[in-house]
Amino acid sequence: MSQSRAAVNPCAMCMPLGSVLVFRGIEGCMPLFHGSQGCSTYMRLYLAHHFREPVDIASSALSEKAAVYGGAANLKTGLKNVIRGYGPRAVGVSTTCLAETIGDDVERTIREFLQEEPDGRDIPIIPVSTPSYAHSHEEGYSAALLATVRALAQPSKQSCKLNLLVGSIVSPSDVRNLKRLLRDMSAEFILLPDISQTFDLPLTGDLPRVPAGGTPLEEIRDSANSRASITVGACARLPGAGEYLEEEFGVPHHALPLPIGLQFTDMLMARLEEVVGLPLPESYEQDRGRLLDAIVDAHKLLAHVKTAVYGDSEMVLGILKFMVELGMSPRVVATGTRSRAFATLAGEMAPQAAVLDAVDFSDIGREISARDVELMVGPFTGRQIAAAQNIPLLRVGFPNHDRFGASRQLLLGYQGAAGLVDAMANALLEHRERIPVKQQAPAPSPPGR
Ligand code: SF4
Repeated sequence: MSQSRAAVNPCAMCMPLGSVLVFRGIEGCMPLFHGSQGCSTYMRLYLAHHFREPVDIASSALSEKAAVYGGAANLKTGLKNVIRGYGPRAVGVSTTCLAETIGDDVERTIREFLQEEPDGRDIPIIPVSTPSYAHSHEEGYSAALLATVRALAQPSKQSCKLNLLVGSIVSPSDVRNLKRLLRDMSAEFILLPDISQTFDLPLTGDLPRVPAGGTPLEEIRDSANSRASITVGACARLPGAGEYLEEEFGVPHHALPLPIGLQFTDMLMARLEEVVGLPLPESYEQDRGRLLDAIVDAHKLLAHVKTAVYGDSEMVLGILKFMVELGMSPRVVATGTRSRAFATLAGEMAPQAAVLDAVDFSDIGREISARDVELMVGPFTGRQIAAAQNIPLLRVGFPNHDRFGASRQLLLGYQGAAGLVDAMANALLEHRERIPVKQQAPAPSPPGR
């Protein structure tokens, strides 16, 4: 945990930003921030730079007057405008720092709005409290996922579907691959949130105000009747949507890490085989074999390389586990989110590493320079440390503003792991090629000489 009383260049983003990633994964859902306009402008740009897609986030546009007298009138006007202007199927309302600080009662305002505005009665409005001064974007994501199932899940007729809850931020490509895996296993499933299209739309010349795709509302309602839930990305999380469905509706829940690397992917595959009751298709066994081949190929380059991995806690834990599997030597393991579970798990996986939670990049940079790190893996936000200390940086995860392809970056599953092996090895090789020959460390002598 950081010793500093102020974050300098934080390793986490605003809490409501995480909620947008969930609301945009629901079919026809429009996010609305109850707060000042600057919050939604900043986060729209932040998401648009990462996904390279237009991202609309409405705002209740609180001003000085609302800060003194309360923002209920602004929120009602904002809801009315969003429903008339966008025609959404649902609205997700996230609070920002200002609304939280003045203590607006958002749930009561929504109840009043629904009584006053008959137009809004058929449209679910999902409120979530996201005070950014208290928590990070990761916690905003978890809170929005829980708020969504809390607001929508309804018990009716039992189904044999499997709920796959994506408990942590992953790319649209990762979600597409999770869906493909479930289809290949002939599983009937409900995947929530589904950002595979909404943040990575095919170019058709048509630009709908609310993008197509996302988990249908009917499926989220039906999640209360499923035979089981699996949450991927639930290592360091507080109890969330899966636990809620288990406690409220008796849907058995399995919490798993993000399937990054060999063992964590094996865990998901084994659990799917158990829950679905069918074996993994042969093509995935072949992917696993190809991953093993890639690991063997790159072993002589990656073994013992001193690494730093940072970013979203679930992604960091997955990559850390994989680095240990590859024989690498993680020295700095960091996340901007405050999480005791993260610190415990990361410490068990890499006892020799400095494990940091709730830290900023000044803390991370200090540890990296003290530990002779040879490769950094994490979001683009670590680029200044990498440049200042002349360390190769492999950009993974969220956010990535200075390279293309974030939506298509595949980290999960056997194929994602094989891509990660190649990318880490190539980052090291490219860096070595840039160093003049006389500055390079001498190659180790072959054995027996
Ligand atoms: S920190 Fe708070 S006030 Fe600033 S952009 Fe984020 S939500 Fe808005």
